[in-house]
Amino acid sequence: MTEKYDVIVIGGGPGGYVAAIRAAQLGLSTACIDMNTGKDGKAALGGTCLNVGCIPSKALLDSSKHFHHVQHDYAAHGINVADASIDISTMIARKDGVVSKLTGGVAQLFKANKIKQFHGRGRLLANRQVEFTAHASDEKISLEAKNIILAAGSVPISIPNVEYDKKYIIDNEGALDLTEVPPRLGVIGAGVIGLELGSVWQRLGSEVTLLEALPTFLPTADQDVSKQAERLFKKQGLDIRLGTLVKSASVVDDEVRVTLEDKNGESQINFDRLLVAVGRKPYTQGLLADDSGVELNERGQINVNDQSQTSVPGVWAVGDCVRGPMLAHKASEEGIAVAELIAGKAAHIHFDTVPWVIYTDPEIAWVGKTEQQLKEEGVSYRSGSFPFAATGRGLAMGDAAGMVKMLADEDTDEILGVHIIGPSASELIAECVVTMEFHGASEDLARIVHAHPTLSEAVHEAALHVDGRAIHRGN
Ligand code: FAD
Ligand code: NAD
Repeated sequence: MTEKYDVIVIGGGPGGYVAAIRAAQLGLSTACIDMNTGKDGKAALGGTCLNVGCIPSKALLDSSKHFHHVQHDYAAHGINVADASIDISTMIARKDGVVSKLTGGVAQLFKANKIKQFHGRGRLLANRQVEFTAHASDEKISLEAKNIILAAGSVPISIPNVEYDKKYIIDNEGALDLTEVPPRLGVIGAGVIGLELGSVWQRLGSEVTLLEALPTFLPTADQDVSKQAERLFKKQGLDIRLGTLVKSASVVDDEVRVTLEDKNGESQINFDRLLVAVGRKPYTQGLLADDSGVELNERGQINVNDQSQTSVPGVWAVGDCVRGPMLAHKASEEGIAVAELIAGKAAHIHFDTVPWVIYTDPEIAWVGKTEQQLKEEGVSYRSGSFPFAATGRGLAMGDAAGMVKMLADEDTDEILGVHIIGPSASELIAECVVTMEFHGASEDLARIVHAHPTLSEAVHEAALHVDGRAIHRGN
C-alpha cells in the first residue's frame, strides 16, 4: 500500500522542517523524512544546523567567551576572579542541552501542525514516489505526493591524503564534542568553521594553527574587514598561515603529523588534534533513484531554477543541496517560498540581501556587495565608515574594536553593501538588510533617529559619513 500526501519533504534541517511547517500551516497534508539520530539514539530533527552546526557552535562560542572574559577582561572592571577553571564535560553537556531543547521543540511543532514524521532514509523514485527505509527496523514504506521537497543538506568535504578517523583527525562534529582541550589544535581551512571552532578551543587554552591554502584571508568579505579581522585574530593568538597547502596527514604515536607546502617549500608540523574545515558539499548520496529524473550540476548540487524547481515537475529542492550560500536562514526562506508556491501563493527570495555572519570575537557581518566587487563591476560608489572606538556604548562595554563600513551608489545613494566587524555585528546588520530590501539610501539611515548610547550609532554615523557629515569623526 502507498501512503499519499500533498507534500513529502526529504530532510529535516532548517530548509526541510521549515518547509514542512509552512506547508502544513497552508492546509497541505505533509510528511517529513529525516534520518538524523541524536545522542540519545532517538530521531533528532533540525539537521546540521541544530545538531552539529549553527546552534552547538554558538553554545560553545558563548561558553568559551565567558571563560576568556573571566581570565582576561574582568580585571579591568575591578572584578577579580582567582583561579578560574573550565569543566569541559559541563560545557559540552550544556551545549547538548541547548541542542535537545531545540530539536525537541521542532518535534513538538511537527505534532502541533499534524506533520507525519518518518525517522529513516528517503529515496526519490520516478513519478513522485518515495521509498522510505526506517532506521529502527529496515522496514520499507512506499509514499507518494503531489509535491516533493528535497532538503538533504550537506556534508564536510574531505581532501586527498587526509582521512577522518573521528578521534585525531576530525570534522565539525568531532570539534564540537572534544572531551578535553587539545594542547595543539591544527585546523585545515581558515574559513567560517575554522575560525569559529578554532576560536572556541583557542579561548579554552589550545594553541591553534590555521593552515589556509589561499594567499588572502577571508577573500569573500570586504577586504577592509578581512584585514582588520586578520590583525585582531592574530593578536588573540590564532596562528593563521596563509598560502599553506596541506599535502597529507597521518596519526603517529598519538599525534597528527601534517605535511604542508608553503613559500619556503615542504615541511612537517605536529598537532594533538586536526580539524578539517575545507568546505561542505551537497549530500545527495542515496537520495535519487537512477530514474528519478532529477539532474545535478557539475558541482554536485541539485539543479534548480530561481523558484527552486528541479528538472522534474512537482519536485523542488532547497538549502545546502542547491546553489547559493550554505546558510540556515537562506535554506529556511527557500523552504517557506516553496511551500507557498505549492499552495498557489506568490513567493520570491532576494538572494542579494542574504546576510552573512561569522561569530568570532569581534563578530563579522555583511550584506550586499564588497568594495572589491563594486570596483570589478565598474560601479561608481561612495563609501562611509565609523569605528566602534568612537561610540560611547562600545567604550562603556569595553568592547570597541572594529567598524561599520557602508557603500552607496554614487548617483542614486542606494545602499549597495554594509560591512561590519565589531560587537553585536550579527544583530546590527539587520537594519542594513531591511534598508537594502526597501532599496533605501544612506540618506535614509542618516536621517533615522538611533538611540543613544547604542552600538547602532556606528551604523548611523557610517551613513552620515557617506555624505561627509559624520559628527563624531573627521570627514
Ligand atoms: P541540513 O541542515 O544539512 O539538513 C539536512 C537533513 O537531511 C539532515 O538531517 C540529514 O540527515 C537529512 N537527510 C539527508 N539525506 C537524507 C535522506 N536521503 N533521507 C532522510 N534524511 C536525509 N549557517 C548559518 O546560517 N549560521 C550559522 O551560524 C551556521 N553555523 C554553522 C556551523 C557549523 C559547524 C556548520 C557545519 C554549519 C553551520 N551553518 C550555519 C550552515 C547551516 O548548518 C546549513 O546551511 C543548514 O543546516 C542547511 O540546512 P539544510 O536544511 O539545507 O540542510
Ligand atoms: P569555507 O568555504 O568557509 O572555508 C574553507 C576554507 O578552506 C577556505 O578558505 C579554503 O580556501 C580552505 N581550503 C580548502 N582546501 C584547502 C586545503 N587543501 N588546504 C588548506 N586550506 C584549504 O568552509 P567551511 O569553513 O568548511 O564551512 C562550510 C560552510 O558552512 C560555509 O561556507 C558556510 O556556508 C557554512 N557555515 C556558516 C557559518 C555561519 O554562517 N556563521 C558557520 C559555519 C559554517
